[in-house]
Amino acid sequence: MLRQRGNGRMRVRVHRGTQQIGGTVIELEASGQRLLLDCGLPLDAEVDDAAVIPAVPGLTEPEASLLGMVLTHGHRDHWGLLPRAHPALPIYMGRATERILAAAAPFVPDVQTIKAAGYLCDGQGLTIGPFAVTPSLVDHSAYDAYALTVEASGRRLFYSGDLRGHGRKSQLFEAMVARPPQRIDAMLLEGSSLGRLGQYDRFPTEDEIEARLMERIRTSSGIVLIAASAQNIDRVVSIYRATKRSGRTLVVDLYAAEILRATERATIPQTTWPDVVLFTPQHQRVKIKNEGLFHVLDQHRNGRIFPEDLAAAPGRFVFLFRGSLLADLKRANCLAGARAIWSQWAGYLNDERGKGLVAALAEIGLDLEVIHTSGHASIADLQRLARAVAPRSLVPIHTYDAARFPELFDNVVVRRDGEWWEA
Ligand SMILES: [Zn+2]
Ligand SMILES: [Zn+2]
Repeated sequence: MLRQRGNGRMRVRVHRGTQQIGGTVIELEASGQRLLLDCGLPLDAEVDDAAVIPAVPGLTEPEASLLGMVLTHGHRDHWGLLPRAHPALPIYMGRATERILAAAAPFVPDVQTIKAAGYLCDGQGLTIGPFAVTPSLVDHSAYDAYALTVEASGRRLFYSGDLRGHGRKSQLFEAMVARPPQRIDAMLLEGSSLGRLGQYDRFPTEDEIEARLMERIRTSSGIVLIAASAQNIDRVVSIYRATKRSGRTLVVDLYAAEILRATERATIPQTTWPDVVLFTPQHQRVKIKNEGLFHVLDQHRNGRIFPEDLAAAPGRFVFLFRGSLLADLKRANCLAGARAIWSQWAGYLNDERGKGLVAALAEIGLDLEVIHTSGHASIADLQRLARAVAPRSLVPIHTYDAARFPELFDNVVVRRDGEWWEA
């Protein structure tokens, strides 16, 4: 049945993403064979909810015409359905993404250690059946993130994945604008910032975030708690640099230490550095004991500190913080004169956990100040990229505001979820 559909053109079906941010799933078909680009979980969904599984033959049951799944980056809204995928389905992703997911697996529910069938490398073509896939490393709040150019049956599709032009790797974005993929028939362009940012507004750069963090650290007498995702490596680097330039030491927990180690990159802060130390909260000490993770802890033994170290000189430290660490810090008696900063998407503060954290901090007299910048491109940057690529058709994805695309971009074709169309 599927084989008969192949009529010499590449066809595309966005299962989820034409009308929403999160849970992106894109299916391509050429010569009767198919490939998935991303397979994400919607932001507020549970992976065991059957309603989130798209109707893709071969995703949950073996079906030879589905050749595999290419994951652009390690955000759950792009890979979160992996636990539901058939275990024999080949998965392609960046090497560092594979390592980071493996490092996160002991600490984060529903994260699995996956052995990739092949790896995405910047500029290196990958052949998967009739699909020639060329990844381009991009600037995003996830490490090791790619945009994809896919050629099949004489058609060329460019999928932006998630990207931005104002992070620590902004030169990647500028290089893509200067030397865009050529002869693109269809461009799937993310539009996360539409509806969140004015047309002519810009987001702060990571350098600006670093400067603002440094100002707050320098004017604090006590410990500075910065709530950020350890997997937002750009942000961890900004926090580390602001910490170091303030003459302080960065404290990370075992989860964050493991994520940083998994980057295997010499320029990214590690607990082997003199100004980065490990603090193991009670729940992680229990986990280490119960799950036999002493070999994991051992990787970070040189830079360990303990509650009494935090209490002795809290003003020496900046803590890469999560709400689950607050009880340990209270017990350590190190919060006099503390400052708390929220350095991730402010929307998370509206959910139960976010509200709980704000309330728990208020109880001990701490406000939570937001210092953050987006992982997604401003509208002006998206326009520059779209003009450079100049596709025959531009299809909105990863957006709540597809209806606004036609006034901002040329050649826009708004598609519906589940609809097959020719690239
Ligand atoms: Zn992302
Ligand atoms: Zn995303």
